[in-house]
Amino acid sequence: MPGLAALVVAAGRGVRAASDVPKQYALLGGKPLLRRTLEALGRCEAVTQFCVVIGEADQARFAAATDGLRPAPSVATGGPTRQASVRHGLEALVDADPQIVLIHDAARPFVSPRLVGRLAEVAEQGFAAIPGLSLTDTIKRVEEGAVAATVPRDGLYTVQTPQAFPFRAILAAHRQAAAAGREDLTDDAAVAEFAGLEVRLVEGEERNIKITRPGDWARAEAMIAARMETRTGQGYDVHAFGPGEAVWLCGVEIPHDRALLGHSDADVGLHALTDAILGALGDGDIGAHFPPSDPVWKGASSDRFLADAVRRVAERGGAIVNLDVTLICEAPKIGPHRERMREAVARIAGVPTARVGVKATTSEGLGFTGRREGIAALAIATIRMPEEE
Ligand code: MG
Repeated sequence: MPGLAALVVAAGRGVRAASDVPKQYALLGGKPLLRRTLEALGRCEAVTQFCVVIGEADQARFAAATDGLRPAPSVATGGPTRQASVRHGLEALVDADPQIVLIHDAARPFVSPRLVGRLAEVAEQGFAAIPGLSLTDTIKRVEEGAVAATVPRDGLYTVQTPQAFPFRAILAAHRQAAAAGREDLTDDAAVAEFAGLEVRLVEGEERNIKITRPGDWARAEAMIAARMETRTGQGYDVHAFGPGEAVWLCGVEIPHDRALLGHSDADVGLHALTDAILGALGDGDIGAHFPPSDPVWKGASSDRFLADAVRRVAERGGAIVNLDVTLICEAPKIGPHRERMREAVARIAGVPTARVGVKATTSEGLGFTGRREGIAALAIATIRMPEEE
């Protein structure tokens, strides 16, 4: 069934202060603004395809900003005005011929599935549907610095995107407006009105802000930060002793009368911490990402495993809150090396040392650690992640 297509307009040339990157490619909460907007639309199950209208010079930026998104958006090239850009995007969707098209600005990253649902419901009945918010401030008309009139605000709304339309109707309306030489229509609802299509208003959302002025970035960053949640994960690892003269524990080499056996450097502390972070992310385990069967990891320094898990957190917009590890062995003594271990873990994970705990215990001579057959490590990682992840 031809479904719901999202057409995102991202061809603007406006930049953030002190930057030459168009603002839709600037980072918001660690991700390009356009990617955030596409991900938000991607959470609407009804949306089955994506088309993005981009500036001719932005091919490489677009590819980088949308890397890995599924389904991959198709691309159309922008025109001299927003209205022309939308028309190009609609023409690019002709073959797909969706029933409904949602036309959305790249600068509104907080669009919700609920709002899309309300709009689609009205568009499915054959109307244009736009989200609006009633005015709460008093409105004045000002002429030459003086108030000329107080405008009654009854029936006045500010209008947002996405705006939803039956695809063939809005395509025909855009073609008709272009043929009539009208390039001054400021939103797609105006194009629909021009062509005589009935436009209905649905309740918009306060959160669905458009990032336009410098202060909007700070507000949007704060909105993202307020929607972070805390997650924890645990990790456990064991390595057996073998012949050698030193062990690696939590990124520190400690002279000892034996070494730990393993495919990599056998750093049980870093392995347990890596698994704890991967656990908090719900992203497999160290063996899945770095298979012991792969010769590439033979003798590898384990800091790269931990660094990779930390990178996965950052890549998904999260951050490490704290890391805590317990080493279980009769020997070597951990106490004298504890501070260096904390510093090493903190450096690898890119967090302050105060957020890293390293503790040690013996097993009172009991079990395999008590018999000095190996070392075990337990770890917990606490991370902050965007709620929508
Ligand atoms: Mg291991």
